[in-house]
Amino acid sequence: MVRIARMSEMDLSSPEAGCWRLEHSYSRLPGLLHVAVGPTAVRAPRVVAWNRSLAAELGLEAGSDESRRAKRAEIFSGNELPPGAAPLAQAYAGHQYGHFTTLGDGRAILLGEQITPRGDRYDVQLKGAGPTPFSRRGDGRATLGAMLREYAISEAMHALGIPTTRSLAVVATGEEVWRQDGARPGAVLTRVAASHIRVGTFEWAAARRDEAALRALVAYTLQRHFPELVGAENPALALLGGVIERQARLIAQWMSVGFVHGVMNTDNMALSGETIDYGPCAFMEVYDPATVFSSIDRHGRYAYGNQPEIAQWNVARLAEAMLSVLHPQEETAIALANEAIGGFGKSFERHWLAGMRRKLGLFNEEPEDLALVEALLTWMHAAKADFTNTWAELETLAPEADGKSEFEAWRAQWRARLGRQPQSAEEVARLRRANCPAVIPRNHRVEEALATAEAGDMGVMEQLLEVLAAPFDHTRARAMAEFRLPAPDGGAGYRTFCGT
Ligand code: AMP
Ligand code: MG
Repeated sequence: MVRIARMSEMDLSSPEAGCWRLEHSYSRLPGLLHVAVGPTAVRAPRVVAWNRSLAAELGLEAGSDESRRAKRAEIFSGNELPPGAAPLAQAYAGHQYGHFTTLGDGRAILLGEQITPRGDRYDVQLKGAGPTPFSRRGDGRATLGAMLREYAISEAMHALGIPTTRSLAVVATGEEVWRQDGARPGAVLTRVAASHIRVGTFEWAAARRDEAALRALVAYTLQRHFPELVGAENPALALLGGVIERQARLIAQWMSVGFVHGVMNTDNMALSGETIDYGPCAFMEVYDPATVFSSIDRHGRYAYGNQPEIAQWNVARLAEAMLSVLHPQEETAIALANEAIGGFGKSFERHWLAGMRRKLGLFNEEPEDLALVEALLTWMHAAKADFTNTWAELETLAPEADGKSEFEAWRAQWRARLGRQPQSAEEVARLRRANCPAVIPRNHRVEEALATAEAGDMGVMEQLLEVLAAPFDHTRARAMAEFRLPAPDGGAGYRTFCGT
């Protein structure tokens, strides 16, 4: 049984107790969008990861003495609700690998929206907190390995400057969960998000043919994520345009660091523009647009190079879901939707090229820049070069015999291009350092940290998290060369499993 702590029972001198400020704007949306359900208590909760800086941002910072730590384990396992919580599971649908299906939070429970000391609003959600009416045949639980993986990669994305949901805590449950590969230690992740509104949320309302719910969702999403568009003449069209722009920018950012989401189903696309749902994701090592890590993505639908096209396909599903509120006449609605979706490609290319220019140290624009970037990528592909390290070391790279002369020819062109802008070499180096990470979560490093963590030792994971928190610190990275080394086999055979 989950206990609700009363304010009077809480130690109000403890900042953790006193600083919960939960609101529940989502629960005021039409009832088909959510179901009240609480977490299911676990046997022996133990905090294995705690994000102190995020806790401080949320206004939840707390001391480290034993009693507070114990309280933290109770709250972030779901054993005890924080004051003001009104837990619920969200309903949504989605296209999974291209096929429509109804889903909903099968193992995630929203405690509420924390209002931070700065006045921002963040969903606080427990992932793996037990079954909900949407669990279908699932157990509502999550493994320690998968939750630590989400923690590490989402925090790495944040440090890379890419919009993402955050991870506040991982609490081991002391219980086992059963997956394909046998019994695994269970855990609950506390996910913090600008919101959990997905393309699939709109698809759910549309599938129920509930126009009032769609209108409410449009107004709510605009208010929460696009306040600058509130009051637009056509709110649904304004929202569609805003989402397209943010997704185009987000995917361009993924591409610029070699991130492969792995499961870009429409239920895993957040309208806030944050990266969400870290399942079989991973960072590409050797540059190859066909890179796929997910063991179940047999046809490479969600390969690195397909991500822009898939994002556009996903926003087309959003537009489709919103047709009835885009315009009363279907034909006009379709024309409006098509025009908006058609803009995705241009927007993506603009963001992508701007990002690539920064990586090359270019401050101004020349028409030939695209060809310069493409020539480098073509070389990387042919030479099986490491994506991250190549970008970081363009000045000093000394390729082996194969492809050496081609690279030198490219570098001469790049140097000539740098010479046609007024900025100094130091300015160029600074721009490049800020846009070419020295470290990314390399798959073999992540696996090593997860294996030792599952065996009960968090030391390796903690060191990895520390390195990933400063990806642009090239000086420090040089002293920690082992985190920059590609996997011995170039990571070619690396597979991630949805076994979550
Ligand atoms: P995902 O592939 O993580 O985006 O999840 C797809 C759907 O499966 C969502 O509705 C999840 O809530 C649900 N789901 C995933 N794992 C479980 C689980 N262990 N128990 C119940 N539902 C789950
Ligand atoms: Mg999902």
